[in-house]
Amino acid sequence: MKIEEIISRNFPIISPEYRKFAVSKDKCRACSLYGDYCQIVQSEGNAHSPTFMFIGECPGKDEVEQVRPFVGLAGQRLRSELRKHKKTFRRDSVLISNVLPCRPKDNKFPNNDIRLVKNCTQKWLFKEINMLKPKILITLGNPALRALTGHAGISSYRGNWEFMHSFDHPLWVMSTFHPSYVIRSERSKKQHIVDQFESDIAKVANTWEDIVYKDDRMSLSENDWKTAGAYNKALEMGLLND
Ligand code: URA
Repeated sequence: MKIEEIISRNFPIISPEYRKFAVSKDKCRACSLYGDYCQIVQSEGNAHSPTFMFIGECPGKDEVEQVRPFVGLAGQRLRSELRKHKKTFRRDSVLISNVLPCRPKDNKFPNNDIRLVKNCTQKWLFKEINMLKPKILITLGNPALRALTGHAGISSYRGNWEFMHSFDHPLWVMSTFHPSYVIRSERSKKQHIVDQFESDIAKVANTWEDIVYKDDRMSLSENDWKTAGAYNKALEMGLLND
């Protein structure tokens, strides 16, 4: 499938800058992952100014075949959960993306190749976030939690709003389980995992406006934010502790 066709199908709304980004992402051959399936799976949804950005791990077999993220079983589980809140999670308010745009061999996320994941996220995912400036990130599963926040252990972090100042704009993150873990939990009757996933997604839908619009940092101009962001970072590094 040609990149122009993929772009017009995957993105109902797209900025000229994102279009260029998607075309150059399609040409990425920077690491060994591309060689396994030779298909970059682009994101899907609002590629101009999404409110919500869902971030999974990496595409699987169905995603490579269809060149769309989250269309296999896990994707259907995610999308059916989002449809329960269809006034909030719409094709024009959401972007669905992944930590890695290529499918790894044996479907195994390369957890032990930290350099590969870091290079890839800096080249694509973090640029995508800085360009589109979503207000809310929803990380799905451990690899996305780790790549975005540096935390490990989804069970301890899920279900809580966390403010982030490491991007070019202020944003909030909600972490939850990966939908394929939710499917496995449904099969093995671990109902509490299913309930937690569903309540995390519902919490985003029901509370995001309070979180975003009651936080003064979210209305800072880009320039003000840069100053405030630098200030926060310096504070975090202990440089302003007097
Ligand atoms: N799992 C993911 O993490 N991403 C996809 O796109 C599909 C399945």
